[in-house]
Amino acid sequence: MITIEECISLTPYTTFGVPVSVRFFAEATTFSELAMILNIFKENPLPKVVLGGGSNLLFTEDFNGIVVYPNLIDIVVERFDEDHVWVKAEAGVNWDAFVGLCVQMGWGGIENLSLIPGNVGACPVQNIGAYGVEVKDVIDKVEAIEMATGEVHAFTNDECRFSYRDSIFKHEAKDRYVIVAVTFKLNKHPELKIKYADVEEEVRQLGSLTVENVRRAIIRIRKRKLPDPEHYGNAGSFFKNPIVPQRTYRAIKEAFPEIPSYPAGEGRVKIPAAWLIETAGWKGKREGDVGSYPSQPLVLVNYGKATGAEVLQFAKSIKQSVKEQFDIDLEMEVNVF
Ligand code: FAD
Ligand code: NAP
Repeated sequence: MITIEECISLTPYTTFGVPVSVRFFAEATTFSELAMILNIFKENPLPKVVLGGGSNLLFTEDFNGIVVYPNLIDIVVERFDEDHVWVKAEAGVNWDAFVGLCVQMGWGGIENLSLIPGNVGACPVQNIGAYGVEVKDVIDKVEAIEMATGEVHAFTNDECRFSYRDSIFKHEAKDRYVIVAVTFKLNKHPELKIKYADVEEEVRQLGSLTVENVRRAIIRIRKRKLPDPEHYGNAGSFFKNPIVPQRTYRAIKEAFPEIPSYPAGEGRVKIPAAWLIETAGWKGKREGDVGSYPSQPLVLVNYGKATGAEVLQFAKSIKQSVKEQFDIDLEMEVNVF
């Protein structure tokens, strides 16, 4: 069913929970309804934004535009062979429910991405990643409808131009397409990846090394460390982990020998943004109802009545401190409108 509403609150549709309203909110539950909605608004000059689970967004003011909400929720097995299964999930399928289903079926590849909020349609946008796995590793194709023309395009994995928390959908394809479905190539005999953070120890406590136990371990770790948006509004990591040249890293290491780091390609090093933010003195800090979460300072939280503008101002202050202290420019991961 098509739903078009005018001047409604978007607050319940976003995990930051900041007050924001939108001029038009248009929801479709099938592909043809979505095409119809795009046709209705074709000549309308207002800007359009596609909404998924709202877990990677921050609106800093009311949005005088059109929010397109593709609530399509089918899942089909397209084909399989001895080793793999190709599963297509529509944009509105809840990501973690999809991971749970695949794990139940014994299909591996996305178990490390358990408990990431949001919907399937957004997973290619920032190439979601966690615990050593990125969704690009299992994406076969991304089907999308171009908002201006209504034309459907199937992006191959290469065409998505995936990189660290990035894809074509954050650049030239940004706000141009509605992703309607993603096809994943999952593994019936997966190689499990547990060499990250506390995953190995947590799996050991649960028993044997299985896809189910990797999912359970990651859910346990995440529940301990991250704020539940039901209690404290947030959008996960506010900034990306910066990848810097070796010389920048070495200069910081002279002053801070304990700095954590990970190799990130030739001559480059990934530094956890959380460490930079903590060392710059922001861990657990709070201004009004905005704060840096005590157990993961990279996550900015809305403790109650914060506005989007206040969250953005707080983020800018952190960015400035990190720049002054380390000469590193933190890049926002959250999509700010
Ligand atoms: P939204 O927030 O609704 O949208 C995000 C962006 O994608 C927007 O620009 C939007 O316009 C666009 N978009 C959404 N749907 C579509 C579509 N169908 N077609 C075209 N564009 C679309 N991310 C990680 O990578 N790893 C993590 O481990 C992780 N952990 C998190 C933990 C918490 C507690 C929270 C709150 C967030 C976390 N995130 C993480 C961030 C977020 O959950 C992911 O980026 C997720 O994929 C966003 O999905 P969404 O459906 O909520 O997208
Ligand atoms: P963490 O384990 O405290 O580690 C801090 C950072 O160091 C991580 O962000 C991770 O980078 C990097 N890291 C840790 N071990 C690594 C290894 N063995 N090899 C390479 N890099 C390593 O991180 P956390 O905050 O608890 O998060 C755990 C995982 O969940 C991370 O992968 C993180 O990206 C993901 N997560 C993402 C979000 C989000 O909104 N994007 C929110 C919560 C958690 P990477 O981020 O590159 O993996």
